[in-house]
Amino acid sequence: MKCLNGILYLVATPIGNLEDITLRALRVLRECDLVAAEDTRRSGQLLKHYNLSKPLLSSFLFNEARRSEEIIERLRRGEKVALVTDAGSPGISDPGERVVIAAIAAGFRVEAVAGPCALVAGLTASGLPTEEFHFVGFLPHKSGQRRNKLESLKATEGTLVFYESPYRIEKLLGELNEVFPEREVVLARELTKKFEEFLRGKPAELLEIAKKRSLKGEFVVLVAGTK
Ligand code: SAM
Repeated sequence: MKCLNGILYLVATPIGNLEDITLRALRVLRECDLVAAEDTRRSGQLLKHYNLSKPLLSSFLFNEARRSEEIIERLRRGEKVALVTDAGSPGISDPGERVVIAAIAAGFRVEAVAGPCALVAGLTASGLPTEEFHFVGFLPHKSGQRRNKLESLKATEGTLVFYESPYRIEKLLGELNEVFPEREVVLARELTKKFEEFLRGKPAELLEIAKKRSLKGEFVVLVAGTK
């Protein structure tokens, strides 16, 4: 039986470019007892790419509560558990928060193994103010709720940062055109990947581009704040 010194590591993994992994992330993944993964198949492939082989525990969103208990149990045994998601930093529009709260409440050490995060990559290269920003993440799916959320952000001073899927990017641009027609908007597409692209302009200009060429891939959408 190991002593009670379990540690939960939140390990950031690439958001596209597989070179974007830190030396510490690789060491933690090599030395941990267990990798708790959002999608074990995907994370298995990632580990394989770095020549790592580890026991994997699936911890995706809808079973996060049950998996949290299992992870806490492993920490009680003194194990080192690395939590990874499909891409980027755990807990940012991804599973993580619940298990972090549970681990802290149970008295365990939690360490962030910092690394890629789409919001930081998009914001820092956007050209919009970075001094103050407000991360919204994904908007709700329902039109009324989306609209209310956007309206509630009108007075926010800092740059607004959204995550959006390719299926709703045109819809979001239409909504931004209605709520923030005069604001500068940046679409950060396919960050760190081969077809990385930044599209900058007013919502109406970007909407026109989106209608002409169907925009594919993953997006961080940034909207200039009030100052
Ligand atoms: N935890 C991740 C992070 O640290 O950024 C985010 C996970 S969230 C489920 C996935 C969303 O992040 C995508 O829909 C997209 O909005 C954004 N995203 C992830 N990778 C991206 C990339 N390479 N380029 C642009 N946006 C990306």
